[in-house]
Amino acid sequence: MASAKRRRCDTESCHGGRVFNPSWTTDYFVQSTSIICLICLEKIAVCKSYNVNRHHTTKHAVSYDKFKGQFRIDKIELLKKTFLAQQSVMKTKVISSYSVTKISFLTAEAISKSGRPFCTGDLLKNCLKIFCKEICPEKTPTVEDLSLSLLTVARRVEDLSKNIELSLKEILNKCEAYSLALDESTDRGDTAQLAIFIRGITSNFEVIEELLDINHMKDTKRGEDILSEVKKT
Ligand SMILES: [Zn+2]
Repeated sequence: MASAKRRRCDTESCHGGRVFNPSWTTDYFVQSTSIICLICLEKIAVCKSYNVNRHHTTKHAVSYDKFKGQFRIDKIELLKKTFLAQQSVMKTKVISSYSVTKISFLTAEAISKSGRPFCTGDLLKNCLKIFCKEICPEKTPTVEDLSLSLLTVARRVEDLSKNIELSLKEILNKCEAYSLALDESTDRGDTAQLAIFIRGITSNFEVIEELLDINHMKDTKRGEDILSEVKKT
């Protein structure tokens, strides 16, 4: 008996037992893409007739098996429509939250490039709220979701700088040969700044030129001090 059971399971999986059977929609109210129950929206983990049948029989047969023929088809169409509508709402929410995060990053980048303090984010958000109130009130909730607090802007700028460093490392790893160019000058506070530029060439003869680092030189600016700064970088 045990061997007969095993044989039946093997046959089911060998002959496509794990492939969705379209009649399951009519029989058990389930959806084809990663089998989802249209009634309770629960995902059925194992794509087998036994599992789909068990889910329906134990959870919904009492209330839903009274629908026969055309009534059953109409009920399924209605459930399908509701399911698709819910999915589209969820999709819109995901896209909207993605856009809000993107705007937050782009704003943090703009603030950082302008050299203004990170708390400018709060002021910008207030300005956006005023703009929305006058021009497009329907966008106010999106602006409300936008996080531009001092801490968020600081965190975003940190993430962006980490990303720049990683990308630069990735690009430089592809270089077959490279050269350095140094430029030392004094800023407004009378501190010497050493700018280190790198230029490399990949095996495909792509030339890359980037600012590698800027080092503050507090003490002397002799040749050996410059060399030690380059070595640090
Ligand atoms: Zn269900």
